[in-house]
This record gives sequence, structure tokens and C-alpha cells, in this order.
Amino acid sequence: MGRRVNLIIYKQGFNKLRSNFNNSSMKHNQSKLIRTRVPQTPQHEHASPLFLTSSFTFDNAEDMRAAFADENDANIYSRFSNPSVQEFVDRLCVLENAEDGFATASGMSAVFGSFMALLKKGDHILSCNSIFGSTHTVISKYLPKYGIDFSYVGASANAAEWEAAITPQTKMIYLETPTNPGLDVVDISMVSAIAKKHNIILNVDNCFATPIGQTPIDLGADLVVHSATKWIDGQGRVLGGAVVGRKDLIHDIYLFCRSTGPSLSPFNAWVLSKSLETLEVRMDRHCSNALYIADKLQGHAKINFVKYPFLTTHPHYAIAQKQMKNGGGIVCFELKGGVESGRTFLNSLKMLSMTANLGDTRSIASHPASTTHAKLSEAERQAVSITPGLIRISVGLEHKDDILADILQALALS
Ligand SMILES: *Cc1c(COP(=O)(O)O)cnc(C)c1O
Repeated sequence: MGRRVNLIIYKQGFNKLRSNFNNSSMKHNQSKLIRTRVPQTPQHEHASPLFLTSSFTFDNAEDMRAAFADENDANIYSRFSNPSVQEFVDRLCVLENAEDGFATASGMSAVFGSFMALLKKGDHILSCNSIFGSTHTVISKYLPKYGIDFSYVGASANAAEWEAAITPQTKMIYLETPTNPGLDVVDISMVSAIAKKHNIILNVDNCFATPIGQTPIDLGADLVVHSATKWIDGQGRVLGGAVVGRKDLIHDIYLFCRSTGPSLSPFNAWVLSKSLETLEVRMDRHCSNALYIADKLQGHAKINFVKYPFLTTHPHYAIAQKQMKNGGGIVCFELKGGVESGRTFLNSLKMLSMTANLGDTRSIASHPASTTHAKLSEAERQAVSITPGLIRISVGLEHKDDILADILQALALS
């Protein structure tokens, strides 16, 4: 017989409680993250339980009234809050040094929620032009439908160019670094200084670097958005996203999302929360494999250039060294033979997967010019560093020499 649940005790701890690591001697975020968890139930389970429930009950009408009046922290409905989701958010906040956060069903709903909650008709958003394809669609196609104007600056823009693009209506600056798939690196401190000077919200997509590689809030960002689908899950299983950052801004995003409904599923949150425990060890290996492969591919006869933030040949190497702890898990290179060689390369791979995702234990190859960015004109692709023969490798956790060997044999045929 299992231990019987004592309902009285059980009910006490299940508000949106944050796990208590403050009164311990832990100094490192990795320890705090591992030890942040929803309160243990009377079953004394060691792993965090999964709260797969749509709603939560109240003992009496007064408690229910108070919960709806926001007078307490009680969970009401999983579109608003859920203990499994809260654990994931709290852990991500530990890693990003963020005050608060809200988790969403995908990276795109985090991006969209952060825009719609904080921007209104007549406002202007200034964005780097090298951004995720769907983010570009939201900014350039959908925001204008609601009267929100936009403009872009290049990933290599200097401080004066960023500042010149600001208008009196600019409410948010948005950037992604390293960029997908061009791997350009934007100086977060430089842009945050400009944002602060003009009282503009800086919102940074930290999907590629992960909080293990860089913490934009420490560099002056107000908000960080994530696609948890990528490195945070890291095993290609679930979609998820999050926005973390300044408490006042997160509150507005929470109010918008609790009414409009892009909330993260408790099941996905439970998977992602467990994934965060191993993010650091996984990223250490992804990044050391990536650096090894980038280094070995340099100078290859079939390749024009290899791009990786921690190669000294990267155009933004100095910025990468300043703001990143590692070079990330993505390596790009350009085949001399252009689009046709790109296709041949993909068709010649024996081990690497051909798939749209990235940030998996399995290494993945993609050819942006013929797939994700095929609809762009040649000039548009050039503007965001996507050349015809560009190959993007998401370096997995297979042995580095097996990954390299597969790439080399495919290069020989391309
Ligand atoms: C994948 C991705 C997104 C979107 O995330 P989804 O979880 O697919 O919605 C946003 N930004 C970057 C940089 C991405 O790679």
C-alpha cells in the first residue's frame, strides 16, 4: 500500500510557491536550479510531480473570491498558472538572473506575447534584420495590421546606426544573437546602453546561446525570450517557450497571456523543467563538439569559409569573446559550389539528420537557401548572411569524430 495522501497538508503547499533555496549555502545558479522545485507532496516523492490538471479547487467561497481578486497566490486555472509550469519558469529565472517570467506553448507565442502585451497602435519596434523567419513575419506582416510600425538595422550596425534608427515612437528594441542561421553576433551591452538612454525596452531572443552561453539581463536587457523547443528541451520532444525579465513587464505579459491563452502545457513544462537540470552539461559537450568541428573544417578545399562565434576568423569574434561563455552549438560553412552543392551535401550525409529542428542530441544539417529561406530574394538573403552554399550544422552529442567523419565524406561528394 502506498502512503495515503493527507489532504489537509496537501492543500497547504500548493499555491504558486517558489521553492526555497535562499536559506541555504548554495552559491551557484546550477545548484539553485537543481534544488528549485515545487513543494514535495505527502508522498515524499524525490522527482517533481506532474500537475496534469486544468483547474484547482477551493475550500470555500471566500477563498475562491480572494483568488479571483488576486489577493492571494492560489492557482485557479492552468491557463493562468500551474505548479509544473511555475517550476520551469522559476528554474529558467535562476539561470537567466531574471526577476520573473511566463512560460508559453512555443517560442513564437513568447515572442508574440511580448510584443502584443507591451506595444500599442502608433508604437514603433526597432529590430535587428537577422531574426528567426516567423519573428520576421510577425514584425513585418502582422504588427503593421495593428498599427505598430517597424524598421530594421543590420547585425553589424554600430552604435550610431542603431541610435539613428530610433524614432520618438520606438517602444521596443528587439534582437537575436547569435543570429539564425547566419551566426552574426550583436553587442548586447552596446544596444542596451542606447535603449536605456532613450527609455526603450530591450527584448533579446536568447535561444541560440541559451543562458549557459550568455545572460542578456546581466548585459542590460529588460526581457529575454526563449524557444524552449531547441536546446532547453535538447532532445527534440516538446514545443515550449518563455519570456523572463523585469517584473513589471512580465506582469503585463502575464495579464495578456492569461486572457489570450498561449500558456504552456503542464506536461511540456514538466519535461522542460527536467531538461534544465542537464542544460549545462549538455551545452558543454555540444559547444566543445562544435568548436572541434568548426576548427577541423577551416581551410577545407570545398569550403569558402567556416562561421562559428569562437573562431578567431569570425567577423564579430571580439564581441563573442566579451559576452559569451562559449561559442554555442551551431556551426555554419559555405560550400564553394553554391545551391547545387548544398543539395548534394545534404543528400550525401549518412548519419546527420535532415530536419527543421535544431538543438537536439542528434546532429542536424540544413541548407537555408533551398529550404527555410527559399522565399527570400538573393539580395534579401545576402543582407542576413545567407549565401547560396551556406550549410547550418546543429552539432549533437554523438562522438565528435563520427560527426566530423560524416561531414567530411559528404563534402568529398559535394
Ligand atoms: C525556433 C526559434 C524560435 C521559435 O520557436 P518555436 O518554439 O519553434 O515557436 C524563435 N527564435 C529562434 C532563434 C528560434 O530558433
